[in-house]
Amino acid sequence: MNIDVKEILEGKVESTSFHYTETLEAMEGLTFSTLPEVEGRLKRIERRKLLLTCKVKTKVLLECSRCLDIYPQELEFSYEEVYTEEPFRIIGKLTEEDFKYTIENNMVDVSKSVRENIIMNLPIKPLCKEDCKGLCPICGKNLNREKCNCSLEDITIEY
Ligand SMILES: [Zn+2]
Ligand SMILES: [Zn+2]
Repeated sequence: MNIDVKEILEGKVESTSFHYTETLEAMEGLTFSTLPEVEGRLKRIERRKLLLTCKVKTKVLLECSRCLDIYPQELEFSYEEVYTEEPFRIIGKLTEEDFKYTIENNMVDVSKSVRENIIMNLPIKPLCKEDCKGLCPICGKNLNREKCNCSLEDITIEY
């Protein structure tokens, strides 16, 4: 989503708010089961810098690390990013941050930071539910759905 920030850059308005739903159903190997709902605000913090404050709510399909089932993982988080206009024209010390997100032709591409922050907020060890029973290490059955008669003693390692 591109947000027009001309009026903020010109100092006519202090900030602008927006609310939209991303239309992409998939990105970078991720599939959404609920499209990301994005709510945010852009505010001028310096002459060529805007602060983006964003709240994202979505559901992505992930593979459970225990039972390997695909399940919808709810994600809800907030983040902040600084967008810089023509960083090369800023007098003074520039940091890498100044080039991370830039304002192009008075427009801010919010989606780019939404995507990056979704990736950063994914669980390291996805679980379909807190108490997922996983797969039987012997017969491979999904123990959330069925029982098996394997005895764990069968795989006890003898010293
Ligand atoms: Zn699971
Ligand atoms: Zn089993």
